[in-house]
Amino acid sequence: MRVFNFAAGPATLPLPVLEQARDELLDWQGSGMSVMEVSHRSKAFVAVAQQAEQDLRDLLSIPANYKVLFLQGGATGQFTAIPLNLAGPEATADYLNTGAWSKKAISEAKRFCKVKVIADETASNYSSVPTAESLQPTPDAAYLHYTPNETIGGVEFPYVPSSGDTPLVADMSSNILSRPIDVSRFGLIYAGAQKNIGPSGLVLVIVRDDLLGKARAGTPPIWDYEAMAKEASMLNTPPTFGIYIAGVVFAWLKREGGLVAIGERNRRKAERLYAAIDSSGYYQSPVAANCRSWMNVPFTIPNPELEKTFCTEAAKAGLANLEGHRSVGGMRASIYNAMPLAGVEALISFMGEFQQRHG
Ligand SMILES: *Cc1c(COP(=O)(O)O)cnc(C)c1O
Repeated sequence: MRVFNFAAGPATLPLPVLEQARDELLDWQGSGMSVMEVSHRSKAFVAVAQQAEQDLRDLLSIPANYKVLFLQGGATGQFTAIPLNLAGPEATADYLNTGAWSKKAISEAKRFCKVKVIADETASNYSSVPTAESLQPTPDAAYLHYTPNETIGGVEFPYVPSSGDTPLVADMSSNILSRPIDVSRFGLIYAGAQKNIGPSGLVLVIVRDDLLGKARAGTPPIWDYEAMAKEASMLNTPPTFGIYIAGVVFAWLKREGGLVAIGERNRRKAERLYAAIDSSGYYQSPVAANCRSWMNVPFTIPNPELEKTFCTEAAKAGLANLEGHRSVGGMRASIYNAMPLAGVEALISFMGEFQQRHG
């Protein structure tokens, strides 16, 4: 039996996507083979990769002067690839520190260029974001990096920072495709697949043409955006199964009405859950009201000793993986695109019962 899976990542996938993958697993497109067993250079697979890219371009309205790359090494690999490609050793890159993932990106970039942290939310215990007006980008910075949605803290920017002529770089691992965005505001967008796209092992990079061809000497070709773009992400064997599933997910998103419809659904899901938390007099959200994530919803209860009980009883009720991240405790419900409203409603009703019994 399928459960409602609230894991932060790898995360739940849409049931129709899994059903299609199951139905095609042994005999894909009449080939007598699984898609995992065909050459990445075969006509049929190249068509799958091209269709996946086209569907992604349609969903996000990606302008023609951006390349779409399907790479490996996760978002973490991009923490390294970004300074290697976009900054020389003496250059300065601006970073916003709004949570655990920003922090990791910052510490990795420090190994390769000068890093200036122009906003730091450590003091708020990563419960808020800097105001748009407070940001003062460094003139001539190589790029400005931020994390629009902090998966662990549950903090999501309600605005896109202005970086002037400096390329804006965004780690959208946990909120890509969750609502419409204006890609032209960004120099580079990257996202590990395992939250809102597909299986882990695939990372998506959307990069503006003028940022290609700047990798520093010694950059490994598989992490050189220009080298990868030249080979349509197939300089070596790509994660074919991940690309195939991503394509099925993109097609599903289009059938569901695209990002306007998905965004509307996500807004409703998040509003329902936060309203239940706020009106309970029992559950609490640690995040400032103006920057609560639509995708990752952390919450606490007055007696932390009951957290384990909450998660165990929830799992018994078919609501899986509600434990907060090991670094912050509490609970966290990740409600990505693939989580239906019914899953959120089931969680809210469980929370009400739990409160009655223990509150
Ligand atoms: C999950 C996540 C990462 C790490 O992704 P990996 O694929 O494990 O490297 C980085 N940034 C954000 C915002 C994430 O949610």
